[in-house]
Amino acid sequence: MDCIFCKIANGDIPADVVYEDDEIMAFRDLSPQAPVHVLIIPKKHIASLDEAGTDGELLGHLMTKTCEIAAGLGLENGYRVVNNCGEDGMQTVRHIHFHLLGGRKMGWPPG
Ligand code: AMP
Repeated sequence: MDCIFCKIANGDIPADVVYEDDEIMAFRDLSPQAPVHVLIIPKKHIASLDEAGTDGELLGHLMTKTCEIAAGLGLENGYRVVNNCGEDGMQTVRHIHFHLLGGRKMGWPPG
């Protein structure tokens, strides 16, 4: 399967990895939208949040680690976690990922 995030998870293409365990990986976004912009992904291919559906254990693990990663990156003042899902959500990479954004005040509403 030609999936860029699977290739990162497999170590086939490089990434600036900030956290990794058997199930998930977190790496810095190539095109950061904030001083801290990290993507948190499962290593196994799941196309979108819709398709993760019932895998609460994996989704819980992704969220729990996102909080730990935020703390480790000095985001004590707050941060934003974003999941873009599907066409209307403007998801561009079809491998589920959560954006962790921080280091500046965020705007609301999002575009
Ligand atoms: P989304 O639009 O929610 O699907 O987000 C995809 C994100 O992946 C974008 O913020 C891209 O900048 C980022 N991205 C794409 N390719 C890479 C890569 N090779 N390494 C790190 N981030 C990437």
